[in-house]
Amino acid sequence: MKITGTMINYYFVCHRKLWLHVHRLSFEEQHENVQLGKLLDQSSYTREKKQIMIDETVNIDFLQDWKIIHEVKKSKSMEESAEWQVRYYISYLRKKGIAVERGILDYPLLKKRKEILLNDEEEEKLKDILLDIEYISNQENAPATINKKWCKKCAFYEYCFS
Ligand code: SF4
Repeated sequence: MKITGTMINYYFVCHRKLWLHVHRLSFEEQHENVQLGKLLDQSSYTREKKQIMIDETVNIDFLQDWKIIHEVKKSKSMEESAEWQVRYYISYLRKKGIAVERGILDYPLLKKRKEILLNDEEEEKLKDILLDIEYISNQENAPATINKKWCKKCAFYEYCFS
């Protein structure tokens, strides 16, 4: 199956969110947090090569000299999920023969950035993550709700808790 960066991200946020996204119960397009994210993507870093879609699977915010992957986020609240999203992009592009050196998580609203590398151990962990994403996605029913503090900002909140 095609595994997108968004799926990697959601895997770390909530397995139910991942499943709902994969099964296209998508309220996300209308959700204001998603819209703010898209606006940020479109307005930041206008001089760079932006929004590169590869294999209709991996959508990179921008690539610097084909060596540094940038992923733009509006806040650090889900940093682990964003870090793995970037590691996945590094791995994906390296497998395509592109000599990516590193990734950068950009937080333009916070005026901060964080360097992301991918070592052998993380590459191995990524393989397990991809298998787990396939397993979750192929389940017949959605995983249980998690009821975490970030649920209230999730596009699926009403669907999960009303
Ligand atoms: S509202 Fe919470 S439980 Fe429901 S999909 Fe979102 S993060 Fe998961």
